[in-house]
Amino acid sequence: MSVKPSPKLRPSGYDALVALAVVALAAALGFWMWRGGTQQGLTAVILVDGERVEQVALRELDHPEERTLTAGGYTLHLRLFPDGAEMESADCPTQDCVHTGRITRSGQSIVCLPGRVIVRLEGAAVNDGGPDIVIG
Ligand SMILES: [Zn+2]
Repeated sequence: MSVKPSPKLRPSGYDALVALAVVALAAALGFWMWRGGTQQGLTAVILVDGERVEQVALRELDHPEERTLTAGGYTLHLRLFPDGAEMESADCPTQDCVHTGRITRSGQSIVCLPGRVIVRLEGAAVNDGGPDIVIG
């Protein structure tokens, strides 16, 4: 008795391409980090519908934190790391935000168009090892 693997799955050519792109992106990100990407003063800014709902100083995180965002009728699960942010899962139709992967550099952002959510990394300018300017 033999069990044949079902060939009913969609042709995986496109999926493989997407996977490749993701791997390439991850490699590029890793490369940038390896190049000494600035990690000090990184702040994750969460915008929902154009409004800043939260701002998290990532370097103050000791461990990954989760945020559940509800926007545009969708629920998004965001993970914040000491060195970046990542949309872990979302029930939006496009999944672009999830496919963005982890962002780790100032200026990068995760955008969920259907949910109108933007998660952006902002970083203070790097100064020469001096103390950060603390306002307030
Ligand atoms: Zn999304």
